[in-house]
Amino acid sequence: MPTRDDTQLDLIQRPRRLRMNPLLRSMVEETRLSPRDFVYPMFIEEGRKGRKDRQEVPSMPGVYRQSVEAGLKEMEQCMALGVRSVILFGIPEHKDALGSEAYAEKGIVQQAVRAAKKAFGPDLLVVTDVCLCEYTDHGHCAPIRDGEILNDAGAAIHAKTALSHARAGADIVAPSDMMDGRVGTIREALDTAGFVNVPIMAYSAKYASGFYGPFREAADSTPQFGDRRSYQMDPSNSEEALREVQLDLEEGADIVMVKPALPYLDIIRRVKDTFAVPVAAYNVSGEYAIVKAAAKMGWIDHDRVMMESLTGIKRAGASIILTYFAKEAAVLIK
Ligand SMILES: [Zn+2]
Repeated sequence: MPTRDDTQLDLIQRPRRLRMNPLLRSMVEETRLSPRDFVYPMFIEEGRKGRKDRQEVPSMPGVYRQSVEAGLKEMEQCMALGVRSVILFGIPEHKDALGSEAYAEKGIVQQAVRAAKKAFGPDLLVVTDVCLCEYTDHGHCAPIRDGEILNDAGAAIHAKTALSHARAGADIVAPSDMMDGRVGTIREALDTAGFVNVPIMAYSAKYASGFYGPFREAADSTPQFGDRRSYQMDPSNSEEALREVQLDLEEGADIVMVKPALPYLDIIRRVKDTFAVPVAAYNVSGEYAIVKAAAKMGWIDHDRVMMESLTGIKRAGASIILTYFAKEAAVLIK
């Protein structure tokens, strides 16, 4: 029986009352992660025949460049853990100036989508990244003429790419190049071909970020000259993110994305508060690599930091989280 001692203060409110045991804390928990929140990014590589089926990305422990067959196995693992959505990035065998493998009927992503839909049907949502930088020999997201990155000439190629993904069976297409008018061009191409019900997840507020380093190693997509600052956003801008999101919605985006996630939680929140649409956030390769590296050094508690990061992203307003942690987090949630 508690008794009053003479140190006791007369407090009406004691917030700690609701934190006294795990069940109480769980009852008042405002943000709860579920494996259904996650989209697992995967790198599917062409021409792995005769080599190992999959190869770990050195700066991203646990993440692989892999063949379609190996990819299917990992998709099965995801599903068993409750992660029901993947986003596919393709690494083609041959690159050229126009990135023509991006829209090839038998391109690597198209093959992977067909195989995934054949194997799993409606039980797995297959999202495809629509961009050219993994497919062009210069590593930019649109064609180049005299050193200039051609915004409008890229539109038709992106639309062709998105359409080829839809034809292969993609459930959602996700244009990621951040150039002007992309979403509208893709929406029109999809609608013209009858794919009115294929949603667009637009990388609407994608920042020119140092956190993409490990991804470029994974996807072989480092620009051969210059950088992407003329199309991706300046990290110091927030109003501009709202304009970009608004434009994408006007052009037909169904889901809007903020990328990266952790340095841009304020952007996620502003977008969520301003527009009544699903907001996705991409917890990018660098954010992943930092946790892996620090944990390896013994400097942080891996699982705790991982869950705290993902919770923070959801709390900020993202209901969809693209993350390389999807499988590990799903295990902990279960
Ligand atoms: Zn790109």
